[in-house]
Amino acid sequence: MSILVVGSVALDSVETPFGEVEEVLGGSGTYFSTAASFFSGVKLVAVVGEDFPGEHTEFLASRDIDLTGLQSAPGETFRWSGRYGYDLNEAHTLETRLNVFESFRPELPSGYEDADFVFLANIDPELQLDVLRQVKNPQLVACDTMNFWIEGKRDALVKTLGHVDILIINEGETRQLAEDANLVRAARKILSWGPKTLVVKRGEYGVLMFTEHSIFSAPAYPLESVFDPTGAGDTFAGGFMGFLASTRNLSEKSIRQAIVFGSVMASFTVEDFSLNRMKTLEYAEIEERFRKIKLLTEFEGLG
Ligand code: AMP
Repeated sequence: MSILVVGSVALDSVETPFGEVEEVLGGSGTYFSTAASFFSGVKLVAVVGEDFPGEHTEFLASRDIDLTGLQSAPGETFRWSGRYGYDLNEAHTLETRLNVFESFRPELPSGYEDADFVFLANIDPELQLDVLRQVKNPQLVACDTMNFWIEGKRDALVKTLGHVDILIINEGETRQLAEDANLVRAARKILSWGPKTLVVKRGEYGVLMFTEHSIFSAPAYPLESVFDPTGAGDTFAGGFMGFLASTRNLSEKSIRQAIVFGSVMASFTVEDFSLNRMKTLEYAEIEERFRKIKLLTEFEGLG
């Protein structure tokens, strides 16, 4: 089973209290695809410029990510720069340069339109809808976004949400999108626009999932050192969707397990800059952290 994803492939410059890096591999599509590739096949739809280093393409290919939909266009690759203070839950964007994404009109390579699982990673909501329109009959569509698009393309975003099953966004974005400071009320409002499930990422405080009939809370894996939170959200989504695509089971139990796999993947990404930790990660380490998160909230089954 493979997942079709559209999102950004970027060169990021990031400052955290623990160090800084310039023009390293990043992007919502990149983090998502890499995390999902530990569980299932991935087809990536995106664009890079002529300046995109070949070693990054080789890394994505080494994860068995299908890159037929990754176009190379004249011009410069998307660039994002951001800074984190000691509150690592909040990124401060210093600069966003869309570059080749400004004129990108995705055309799905043949075979991609039959995708069952679709993830619309953080990117212009018009591009998200463009991709979705080309997919025939998806079984599950999930979506992410951020303040940049909530502020700049609100109407297009709300339109996209009308076609989405699961929205995965962070806490601040939930409040901003719903224009309501109360998270429970904000979730109700967003669910009334189309998505059946809302997954709210709360950084080191974990995840809250809202459906019409239930609320589920999962903790984040408690880490002693968080180095760079960039990509945590996209990596979460990659683990989440990758697990669902691998089981093909969309029951509430399976969705809750997927949330924990997503949290596990995010906990690894933040241990190093860029995708560095993903380069050494082994599946056995993922399983071990899944077991540890399960034990974190166990309070009745102990002997
Ligand atoms: P996350 O930390 O998971 O929210 O996502 C960080 C990634 O999102 C970075 O690698 C950026 O390259 C990418 N990114 C930042 N701003 C945008 C944007 N406006 N559109 C698409 N991708 C973005």
